[in-house]
Amino acid sequence: MTQDIVHTAEGAEVVCARYGFAAAARQHRLGLLELDAGDHHWAQLLHRQVIAPQVDALVDRFYDFQQRFPEIMQAIGNRANLARLKGTQRRYLLSLGQHFDSADYFAERLRVGEIHALRNISLSLYQASYRQMQQLLIDAIPAALTPGSADHAALCRFIGKITALDMTLAIETYHSTRVTALREAVDNLQHEHWRLHQKVGRDALTGLANREAAMDELAAALDAVGARGTELCLIMADVDHFKQINDTYGHLVGDKVLQCIAAKLQQLLREFDVVGRFGGEEFIIVLDDTPLAVARTVAERLRQGVEHELVQCDEQQIRLTISLGLTQAAARDDIRNLIRRADDALYQAKEEGRNRVVVI
Ligand code: GH3
Ligand code: MG
Ligand code: MG
Repeated sequence: MTQDIVHTAEGAEVVCARYGFAAAARQHRLGLLELDAGDHHWAQLLHRQVIAPQVDALVDRFYDFQQRFPEIMQAIGNRANLARLKGTQRRYLLSLGQHFDSADYFAERLRVGEIHALRNISLSLYQASYRQMQQLLIDAIPAALTPGSADHAALCRFIGKITALDMTLAIETYHSTRVTALREAVDNLQHEHWRLHQKVGRDALTGLANREAAMDELAAALDAVGARGTELCLIMADVDHFKQINDTYGHLVGDKVLQCIAAKLQQLLREFDVVGRFGGEEFIIVLDDTPLAVARTVAERLRQGVEHELVQCDEQQIRLTISLGLTQAAARDDIRNLIRRADDALYQAKEEGRNRVVVI
């Protein structure tokens, strides 16, 4: 209220829609504050009898009050600014309550909150200003409308309702502007978090090795098979019917489930085994220096471990299973056909009914 209202080329309906005040929402807000068509009469009376005859005095009184607060003085800045703000406040008062049910009226008030949020005016000052203005208007009701008369009471009621409307609209945009800025900051942080994890070879969601890092590990282990004849096994594991988890509980719970499974796999593996997120709900496990018979028991342990773990997400306990494809590397294997074989085994495990280990 103390700041300029910047008029932009943006239409009133566009501004209203941005803040959720399309026609139906405007009607709802007016209904909440008990403002109806009959109030146009009181808006005219307020304008004619209270505001128009003494608008400059009202503005001066309003700023006399405002200037008692150092924070406001600071926001106002210099005398030239003060003169400009008084002009804005004058226009604001002259428009108070006029066509209060129009999109233009709403849009103008919504912009006020937007500007205050951008300029960091505190909400308490803001509310204090509205309260002060309300009081000034009530005090300025002319003596001809004797206190206690029906007209006096109706006008007071209208002043209360119309200032409440202006205040709620401005506060709402104030918050929504802040929330939008926060959301952008969080998005940026998340993106940065993801980027940094990628950089160090970690999957941002689960903290496991990401696909590239796991493939690098696999390639190095495979080289050793050829060079030193060590035994290497590869497991591809995929969560069963994971789409249903997302569809039933939502994507965020789905994410949490993936984190739980990742932690479970890690807990059940040895420290030097490599477990990575291959993509989506698929995991790659590299068991270096491991004979097939041992790898088979490891795979079975992972399957049972997940099957017996109830994933606790917020209120819900979710039970799920994984299918696993296991294969052992031969000296002639390259990374591509090794992965293809593990994938084929996984596919077969799905075909045979899921929640099982298939070895090829
Ligand atoms: P199947 O038993 O045949 O593997 O069935 P499924 O539902 O697990 O397989 P499908 O490939 O149909 O669906 C996998 C789903 O995993 C679809 C995809 O949206 C979801 N998904 C992939 N990555 C993520 C993620 O990072 N978070 C969440 N929440 N969901 C993901
Ligand atoms: Mg799946
Ligand atoms: Mg899958």
